[in-house]
Amino acid sequence: MAKKEFKAESKRLLEMMINSIYSQREVFLRELISNASDAIDKIYYKALTDDALTFDKDSYYIKVSADKENRTLTITDTGIGMSKEELETNLGTIAKSGSLAFKTENELKDGHDIIGQFGVGFYAAFMVADVVTVISKALGSDEAYKWESTGADGYTIEAIEKDTVGSEIILKIKENTEDESYDEFLEEYRLKAIIKKYSDFIRYPIKMDVSGQRPKEGSENELEEYKEEQTINSMVPIWRKNKSELTPEDYEKFYNEKHYGFDKPLKHIHISVDGTIRYNAILYIPEKTPFDYYSKEFEKGLELYSNGVLIMNKCADLLPDYFSFVKGMVDSEDLSLNISREMLQHDRQLKLIAKNINKKIKNELQSLLKNERDKYEEFYKSFGRQLKYGVYSDFGSNKEVLQDLIMFYSSKEKKMVTLDEYVARMPEDQKYIYYATGESYERIEKLPQTELVTDKGFEILYFTEDIDEFAIKMIMTYKEKEFKSVSSGDLGIEADDNETSTSKEDSENKELFDYMKTILGDKVKDVRVSKRLKTHPVCLATEGEVTIEMEKILSAMPD
Ligand code: ADP
Ligand code: MG
Repeated sequence: MAKKEFKAESKRLLEMMINSIYSQREVFLRELISNASDAIDKIYYKALTDDALTFDKDSYYIKVSADKENRTLTITDTGIGMSKEELETNLGTIAKSGSLAFKTENELKDGHDIIGQFGVGFYAAFMVADVVTVISKALGSDEAYKWESTGADGYTIEAIEKDTVGSEIILKIKENTEDESYDEFLEEYRLKAIIKKYSDFIRYPIKMDVSGQRPKEGSENELEEYKEEQTINSMVPIWRKNKSELTPEDYEKFYNEKHYGFDKPLKHIHISVDGTIRYNAILYIPEKTPFDYYSKEFEKGLELYSNGVLIMNKCADLLPDYFSFVKGMVDSEDLSLNISREMLQHDRQLKLIAKNINKKIKNELQSLLKNERDKYEEFYKSFGRQLKYGVYSDFGSNKEVLQDLIMFYSSKEKKMVTLDEYVARMPEDQKYIYYATGESYERIEKLPQTELVTDKGFEILYFTEDIDEFAIKMIMTYKEKEFKSVSSGDLGIEADDNETSTSKEDSENKELFDYMKTILGDKVKDVRVSKRLKTHPVCLATEGEVTIEMEKILSAMPD
C-alpha cells in the first residue's frame, strides 16, 4: 500500500509551535543573538584548525539597531554567514539545526560554547515580525544572498550585494493591534534590558547605538541629542567578576538562569583560586531537597567550563557523594579546550580542584553551623541524611570530614545537637555518648530504657532514621567517647553495678521467670530482674554490638 504523507497547515503549526515553546515574546532577541554568537564561534573554531584563518577577537561583534520610522529591528553579526544552500536548509527547514550539524562534523563533543541545537530558535522572530529578511555572505564565498519570508507559507532567495562576511537579520516589527503592542521592541531601553537579561554572558560584544544628551557646542545651556555606540553585555561571566561587585540577587539570578533548582539557594560559595591550579567556581547549597534527590535518577555533578567554554554539564568527579546536593559550576583555565571525557577523568588538575572544592564546602557548612544555626538546621533537614550516608559509606573514611557536620535530636533541650556540643556538656561521671533508637521522638521518649539515663542527668541522642545507628557505628568514638545504646546490657551507670546483687531476686523468682521463658520461647534469651526500671514494669535489653533496631533493619534487608 502506498504510504500517504500527513498534511499539515504549516503556518498554523509554526504558530502553535512558537507559542507553546516560548512564554514570552521578548526571547526572540535572545534566540537571534545566540545564533549570531554561534556564527562567530564557528569562525573561532575554524581558526583553531585552519592556519589560513586568524581570529582577532576585536573584529567580531553583534549589533542590534532599531529603526522606529520603518519599524525594523536589525541584528547584524560578523560571523560565519550562510551560503545559498545553507539559507535553504537551515532556515527553510523547521527543526533543522545547522549548528548541531556543525558540532557533529567538527566532532565538538561537549567542549564548545555553541548554543543552537534544536533548529527552532530562529522562527521566534515571527512572534514579533511579519516579515523576516536575512542577508548573508558565507565565509570563503564571493556571493551574498537575501532570504525573505513572511512565515511558514514559504520564502524567497535572491542574490544581493554584501561586502563583508556575516549576516544581517532584519525584522519588520508587527503593527500594533487592539490588544497587543509591539512598539516596545523598537525602544532602546527595552532592547537594552532584554539583552542584559538574557545575553549578558555572550562572549562577543553586543553593540547598540545609544542616544544621550550633551551640551551643545558653543552654547552653555542648550543640549543636543547624540548617538554613541555602546557595548550592552558584560561578557565577563559572573564567576569571573569580583565578589564585591556582586549582590546576593546576582547569585540568585544566576542560580535561576542556570536552572540549578526551582527553589532559592540557601547559600552560595564563590571561589577564586589563583595558585598552582587556577579556577573560579560558584557553588550553591539548595534550600530544598530536589524531588528526585534520594532516587536513582538523581545525577550529581557540577558544570565544568574551560576558559568560559562549557565542557561538561555534570562533572561527577568534582563532588563526593556526600556533597552531591551541591549545585554550580567550575571554570578553569588550566584544562585544555579539546579535552575528552576520559582524559578529564584522569586529569590531575581536576582532582586537585575537586579536593579543594570539598574542603571549601566543608568549611562553608561549618561556618553556617556556627554562625547561622537556623539556616544550618534547615539545610540539615534536607540533606542531613546524605551526610550520614557519607559517614557510613567508604568504610568510614569520610568520617573526619563529616562527623562534625552531623546532628541528632537530643533529649536535653529537645533540639538538634552536634556531637561536639554533646560531648562538651557531658557531666564528668558520664562515660558514654548515649543514644536510643525508635520510630519517632515521641516513641523513644516513652522507652523504659531511657529513664535511668535521663534520671542521671545524662543526655540521650534520639535516632529515628535507619542510617543513624549504622553511621555512628562507623564513627565508633567521638573525642574518645564511645557510643552506647540505652538498650545495651551494660550502661556504664552506677546502678548497673548492683545488677549482680539481683541474682538473689533472680533465684527467688526462678519459677516465674522460667515460666515466662517457656511462653516467650525463641523470642528472648533470658528473663531477669532489672534495676534500671523506674516507672515501667519491663524492658528489652541486648547484649553485644547489634541493637534491637539494627537487628530489625538487617533482617528486613534482602539477602
Ligand atoms: P539552532 O540555533 O537551534 O540551530 P535556529 O532555528 O536558531 O536553530 O537556527 C537554525 C540554523 O540556522 C542554525 O543552526 C544555523 O545553522 C543557521 N543560522 C541562524 N542564524 C544564523 C546566523 N546569524 N549566522 C549563521 N547561521 C545562522
Ligand atoms: Mg538558535
